Amino acid sequence: MTAGADGGTDPKHQGQFFIGGEFTDPRSPGRLTVTEAASGATLAEVADAEGEDVDQAVSAARRALPGWAATPPVQRADHLAMLAEGIKGRTEELARTISQEVGTPIRQSRAVQLGNPIAITAHIAEILRDYPFEEEIGNCLVVREPVGVVAAITPWNYPLQQVMAKVAAALAAGATVVLKASEVAPLTALMLGEIAQAQGLPPGVMNVLVGRGAVAGEALVTHHGVDQVSFTGSTKAGRRISELAAATVKPVTLELGGKSASLVLEDADIATAAKFAVYNAFLNSGQTCTALTRLLVPERMAAAAVEVAVATARKLVLGDPLDESTRLGPLASQAQLDRVRSYIARGVAEGARLVLGGAEPPDGLEQGYFVQPTIFDQVLPEMVIAQEEIFGPVLSIITYSDEDQAVEIANGTPYGLAAAVWSADRARAINFARRLRAGTVEVNGGAFSTSAPFGGLKQSGHGREFGRFGMEEFLMPKSLQL
Ligand code: NAD
Repeated sequence: MTAGADGGTDPKHQGQFFIGGEFTDPRSPGRLTVTEAASGATLAEVADAEGEDVDQAVSAARRALPGWAATPPVQRADHLAMLAEGIKGRTEELARTISQEVGTPIRQSRAVQLGNPIAITAHIAEILRDYPFEEEIGNCLVVREPVGVVAAITPWNYPLQQVMAKVAAALAAGATVVLKASEVAPLTALMLGEIAQAQGLPPGVMNVLVGRGAVAGEALVTHHGVDQVSFTGSTKAGRRISELAAATVKPVTLELGGKSASLVLEDADIATAAKFAVYNAFLNSGQTCTALTRLLVPERMAAAAVEVAVATARKLVLGDPLDESTRLGPLASQAQLDRVRSYIARGVAEGARLVLGGAEPPDGLEQGYFVQPTIFDQVLPEMVIAQEEIFGPVLSIITYSDEDQAVEIANGTPYGLAAAVWSADRARAINFARRLRAGTVEVNGGAFSTSAPFGGLKQSGHGREFGRFGMEEFLMPKSLQL
């Protein structure tokens, strides 16, 4: 069977790694099971990288580094454009694979899970064509050089988007990459290896491993052959990675969790704002780092917010992610299901009012990792469900009495990833957005951008991805004093 002939990774590659331009058998004997979100059945058995596999991949990336760093940016841009084309050419099978692994409804998989990484890669290819790698400052020529070998460690929720946000930016900078894909949803990363091979990306420039964080991930972070770590995932793992990277003084960029707020000002249209809040919070079943999971409304709007939010959520068709009519799929894993259900139970125990859903499995969907879309009203800002990232389709409605209090509540979690503001007055909304401690603020439903800088503050991490800012994370300026 050839790559993609069955609508997915070549089965033989599923048990391999992509190292030095070839699919190679693992040195380690371990295997990991990838399950299908909608059924819990086994979708694939993949290899589980350990120390020797990591050494091989890092060596391949190091060997490729001088040649790739010296490749003219325009040629690197051509390679990236070809990668974007290669991904686009396999959109349908990649989208289906993500729907199976993660549970994203197929239409959202095509539009977001595939649309975003294609756009990210194509955009970086474009800016690379005339990016100023050198500039004169006083008597110096300042040259921006690639950081070296980058370890990219990615999560499962947007498996290809998170990968391309790192891989495209690092390759654009002239760095080479060892990617350790998430063990929960690794198949599209292996397909990316097939695409790189088919598109003639030079061997060793991008290497793909699959393995557990505590083993392959930590081996990469502590490896002397790795110059920088770019991590997207949980705050807990980010903290651990920072500690480990400190031993070799490696720079680390961290894209971590969030508990983002959607703020509805007094003059806003609550019907539009509450509808958007539900669409946003429940996208990918709430498994989105930027999910706006707290809806902050003036007290007088609370009843309308509940009514609109519940009516909107009820209309989202819950079911098989491969069915074209599905709007809400299952969660990605049993661990996620357990976590989300326990948070829902916690919200009830804390005294929040459950106005939709609950911790019990949805009727008729007892197989797989389905959870009911859930909305809480009368949530207090200090409750656990209003402070911690749940990563499921759970929305908390919180009221505020004046705008200063709204800002305090919005900024009052350990996170600072995203936010939204709604107002009839655009200038007022923009001023309000400036007061929010978040890396991204959506104003009156402004669309997510894959070319403007993206990243967090506080415990949502540091560093930026996408476009020029993303590439610059992998460039180091050097001053030649003339
Ligand atoms: P996770 O932290 O469990 O795992 C993420 C990746 O890190 C995986 O590849 C995992 O194997 C690896 N890993 C785990 N522990 C490690 C360690 N000690 N050393 C090295 N690598 C390690 O996160 P997840 O469950 O896969 O993803 C969900 C989390 O990701 C959520 O918190 C979400 O908010 C966050 N996220 C953030 C962004 C962002 O851009 N800010 C985007 C998507 C997801």
